[in-house]
Amino acid sequence: MAANLSSIGAPYDAARVRRDFPILATHVNGHPLVYLDSAASSQQPLPVLRAVEDYARQSHANVHRGVHALSQAATAAFEGARERVRRFINARSTREIVFVRGTTEAINLVAQAYARPRFGPGDEILISALEHHANIVPWQMVCQQSGCTLKVAPINRRGELVYEEFERLLGARTRLVAVAQVSNALGTVLPVARIVADAHARGAVVLIDGAQAVPHARVDARALGADFYAFSGHKMYAPTGIGVLYAREELLGSMPPWQGGGDMIRTVSFEQSTWNDLPWRFEAGTPNISGAVGLAAAMDYLESLGIEAVAAHESRLLALATAALARVPGVTLVGTAAHKASVLSFTLAGVHAHDLGTILDAEGVAVRTGHHCAMPVMTFFGIPATARASFGCYNTEEDVARFIAAVGKAREVFG
Ligand code: PMP
Repeated sequence: MAANLSSIGAPYDAARVRRDFPILATHVNGHPLVYLDSAASSQQPLPVLRAVEDYARQSHANVHRGVHALSQAATAAFEGARERVRRFINARSTREIVFVRGTTEAINLVAQAYARPRFGPGDEILISALEHHANIVPWQMVCQQSGCTLKVAPINRRGELVYEEFERLLGARTRLVAVAQVSNALGTVLPVARIVADAHARGAVVLIDGAQAVPHARVDARALGADFYAFSGHKMYAPTGIGVLYAREELLGSMPPWQGGGDMIRTVSFEQSTWNDLPWRFEAGTPNISGAVGLAAAMDYLESLGIEAVAAHESRLLALATAALARVPGVTLVGTAAHKASVLSFTLAGVHAHDLGTILDAEGVAVRTGHHCAMPVMTFFGIPATARASFGCYNTEEDVARFIAAVGKAREVFG
């Protein structure tokens, strides 16, 4: 049975939520799995697994092009998923919802179809120093291609954006600001509403990388006012290979297509092709139909738990784990921002993060180790890597206790 807890009144029952996720019954190295790697990829609950299977069993065919019944069923499922996404982020129209592979593809789409044709020497793109590689490299490529310049607003030792510096760098030449809402390496929550307002006041458009935000906070694209908002399904309890680019219709409509092929055209001749309407103009080729169906089911699932209730539960676990970990001798927390979500990065003196990860795995505790696709963040802190525990809707206090015990054990092994 899928959990169906109301966010109002009912206590959050993480143990019950956990039972919705069959993979969490796995044993690893003889121990029940403690999964603390949801920031890299979350697990999928039964309603998502079932929705994907039902679609494949009952409705699969290619979308948009068929008159036969299954093609119409598949099209209805796919376009229904788009409407579900629109509602989830409160976009004005489904024309603003482009299905992509994930956050990376969404940002590359904006880089190539929005920035590249418009920007040139003298124009600036402003990012922050805590971005994931997916929100750095596509802009570097645009700078190489168009001659524009990449500016980087610094962070402080707590891993917070230095807002005065950000404001100083946000100038008349800034054409686009691209920042994460939540840092995957540090857990820092950025003041995105303020960033959007300040960037708009100076005439720049704003892209928010919401990969780490959508599973942990209600996102209202309309209220936020961002021009572009990118996220991935696989970090919010949906399958891999599906994600969303939200783009304000006015901007999306002014952009040339990015990839060419089937579905994105209205007419094709050897002399000239014409483009389909929004959003299909940006969806060349057969899309990830079952992924979109799974994403819609994941949104239903998250809302059935109550996003606010999930967020409150995760914040409690993060506070518990942070306090307990800080008491372990030799532990240094990396990323101690006043406002954080779901991510706990740390180092243990004398132990390489990968060795730590291996010892934790031997205890059945899955954490991520490495640079977390944020090498500049590691460089800033002068470390090669961290271990990172991240929390999802299914984690429990027992998970936190087992994690802390496993870190203690690692300390003994290397102590
Ligand atoms: N941005 C952030 C903040 C992320 O955490 C991630 C995934 N680690 C990405 C972008 C890239 O997402 P994806 O790999 O799903 O495209």
